[in-house]
Amino acid sequence: KQIPIASPVRTQAIVNRYFVRAKKNLGQNFLVDLNAVQGIAEAAGIQEGDQVIEIGPGIGSLTEQLLLYGGKVFAYEVDDSLPEILETELPQRIDGEPLSSRFKLVLKDVLKANFAEDLAGFFDLTKPVKVVANLPYYITTPIIFSLLESGLNFTSLTLMMQKEVADRLAAGPGNKDYGPLTIAVQTRMAVDLALNVGHASFMPQPKVDSAVVVLTPLKTPVDVGDPEKFNRLVKLCFAQRRKTLSNNLKTLVPDKAERESLLTNLKLDPRVRPEQLAISDYIALNQALNA
Ligand code: SAM
Repeated sequence: KQIPIASPVRTQAIVNRYFVRAKKNLGQNFLVDLNAVQGIAEAAGIQEGDQVIEIGPGIGSLTEQLLLYGGKVFAYEVDDSLPEILETELPQRIDGEPLSSRFKLVLKDVLKANFAEDLAGFFDLTKPVKVVANLPYYITTPIIFSLLESGLNFTSLTLMMQKEVADRLAAGPGNKDYGPLTIAVQTRMAVDLALNVGHASFMPQPKVDSAVVVLTPLKTPVDVGDPEKFNRLVKLCFAQRRKTLSNNLKTLVPDKAERESLLTNLKLDPRVRPEQLAISDYIALNQALNA
């Protein structure tokens, strides 16, 4: 039985055999920690028959476990030196099936994915998919938003990202990490921090710590009215996070008395700071401003 790809020994052997040089500009930090990789598969609840989209398989450390947990994996990758490595190093048979019937890779920027077209023929698109990734950190938020906008029918997104971004996604009101990103995501998804992963679990080691977040679509998404207007208002309110909400609203409502009565009508203290408002307060504020 082969040593898992998610180990320093096997990863080093692959690096030597194929002259792999981790490309910094593509956010390549390979996982060499089996516990972390299995932690991701478990956080995603991967079971026999699950249809899994993986973003950025790299040399396959996470892919291998997704396959062994029973997943059928469709991967997006941009580095054209990796398909050969994956086809050779991933297990050639899984539960008696050839690798080709369980794993498919397209060389394509995931931000340019057309899921309906790309997945047709490999996945049964009448059934939902799970998205799992150790993300390229330089495009974490664009990837999250492009998945949310894609219309893809997914049950969950299980994503490893920079700890700092994970904290912003999971934050509640009153927390220093709570802000526009928190609100844009939490109006649509439930956010669970599943596990923290230190830099020693990677090769090469990133400078930052990492965390795995599970995002699950809300059964009834929060009605924020016109989402563009809503997001613009939230961003404006947080433009100067240390100032009061009232101060941040100056450009929108120049008259001080008018601003204060707007806030008191919403039962908000005019001295409140943007991070102290619940999402429902922002919705009420947006409604009042657009009434
Ligand atoms: N899954 C592997 C692991 O856990 O060891 C590698 C993860 S590494 C942090 C990120 C991977 O995403 C790299 O393999 C990189 O080439 C790939 N990648 C970078 N930009 C991408 C993009 N726009 N679309 C798809 N994959 C991308």
